[in-house]
Amino acid sequence: MLKDFFLGFVKTHILYHASRGPIYGVEMLEELGRHGYRLSPGTLYPTLHRLEREGYLSVQKRVVGGKVRKYYIITEQGMVVLNEAKKKIAELVNEVLLDK
Ligand SMILES: [Zn+2]
Repeated sequence: MLKDFFLGFVKTHILYHASRGPIYGVEMLEELGRHGYRLSPGTLYPTLHRLEREGYLSVQKRVVGGKVRKYYIITEQGMVVLNEAKKKIAELVNEVLLDK
């Protein structure tokens, strides 16, 4: 239940980082851990796949150390959603944190 509740925050983090440069799964798990989100790969990978299927991320395969690694980067459609999310975050912060 808590996982479902915070999934929107996790998706927002993913889109944000994918807008700054290509990201891959393990790196994103570490980054989310730094923010206090303890996700299992079993949660993160399906989330990345769903964001890709929905057109918010595009995937690029690169060979790193003899292994294929999937890098995700934000799409134009993903940027639209990220910008919309930023407005909603600002509004949420105003109300929930600043009581405005
Ligand atoms: Zn982050």
